[in-house]
Amino acid sequence: MTHRADLVALDKRHVWHPYTPMDRYLAETDPLVVVSAEGSWLTDADGRRYLDANASWWVASLGHRHPALVAALRTQLDSLAHCALAGITHEPAARLAAELTAIAPPGLSRVFYSDNGSTAVEVAVKLCGQYWAQNGRPARTRFIALDGAFHGETLGATSLGGVSTFTRVYAPWTFEVIRLPVADDQTTWAQCLEEVSRILRNHADEVAGVVVEPMVQGAAGMRMHPPEFLRALRELTREADTFLVADEVFTGLWRTGSRWACDHADVAPDVLCLAKSLSGAMLPFAATLTTERLFDGFRGDDSRAFFYGHTYCGNPLGAAVARAALAVYRDEDIPAQVSQKAPRIADAFARMGELPGVVRTRSLGMIGALDLGGDGYLARTGWRVFEEARARGIYLRPMGDTVYVTPPLNIPDGDLTTLLEGVEESVRAALK
Ligand SMILES: *Cc1c(COP(=O)(O)O)cnc(C)c1O
Repeated sequence: MTHRADLVALDKRHVWHPYTPMDRYLAETDPLVVVSAEGSWLTDADGRRYLDANASWWVASLGHRHPALVAALRTQLDSLAHCALAGITHEPAARLAAELTAIAPPGLSRVFYSDNGSTAVEVAVKLCGQYWAQNGRPARTRFIALDGAFHGETLGATSLGGVSTFTRVYAPWTFEVIRLPVADDQTTWAQCLEEVSRILRNHADEVAGVVVEPMVQGAAGMRMHPPEFLRALRELTREADTFLVADEVFTGLWRTGSRWACDHADVAPDVLCLAKSLSGAMLPFAATLTTERLFDGFRGDDSRAFFYGHTYCGNPLGAAVARAALAVYRDEDIPAQVSQKAPRIADAFARMGELPGVVRTRSLGMIGALDLGGDGYLARTGWRVFEEARARGIYLRPMGDTVYVTPPLNIPDGDLTTLLEGVEESVRAALK
């Protein structure tokens, strides 16, 4: 207990938390002090267990410390923990690139490694921009992104972002993007598509790429799109002969019920950004996949090279763990587990839609979400649900008044029952 109190005191004295109003935290929050995690569970310093309802920010898709991933990390540690990747290589980077391109949407044959979701997107932005600059279309300098988009926190990724809580203050240092509307109910999708096609046709000559979170905008509050929207973006970008960048940092690897969210619309993007669950909640690791066409645009004279990289690009530990994760998806038939568990999430959230105070619900694959009616990230009712869930042994961090679950894809059936019942009870209790 004193141990716990010591840690909280040190934390409150020195740690500046992400996405956290620190006055409120210092005054009101008694944080979970997590000492271990296994499968779908976090254990705190008092020995209490909490179901990890969001897979620790969408990364622990195979649960925490999956034995195959732990073993792969240990084995890799015995030979090579790190070396650079500029003009030299190593087995985990080479084999992972081959394995990723083998399962990627058609046409994606090249892999550029980096550290996290933001850098995966930053790579995509610079690749697209530089491609046009040196391949005869220098006027193509602008990007199109969606209303409510979230692509990460570096300045390029922030520029693409459409959630004002994350972008507003940084406006003086970010670039302007062309913003596409996103409909918020079924009836307005047709109008939305018309508007999108008008914007894309008007700007075809200046657009370096269209960047999209396919099917689900996670950080916007699990906003979901019909596949027709993504299909239309693919058709319009093809017509304009510009690039479609799919940011699957959140959705990639079966989160939405298909391997790639793009699969729902049968779409192959020109660039695919991966991070988060790619390295199974073990290490920061990311990959940006591109086509041969994009790659070829950087060949020839030395000055055409992509002068970009991060120190830990393709880190052998991360790559080895990512390879092990891909093997688990195959060997443990994660797709079959997802197709069996996803309908339970859909049913539970549809039912919660009947609760008084719940405004809207939605689900896709291993994502279930509901809205409590407040607006934006600073709404507070979601946090009442968080407290109720915490008291019931569930870690259920909301996004404002959006309460959602994104559990490990292999969450055991009993734990999924506990989770879904617990969420419902917590919502009821918070709204009472
Ligand atoms: C989380 C996320 C990012 C940023 O990833 P980081 O690893 O936090 O930098 C980018 N795009 C999407 C869609 C995300 O969900």
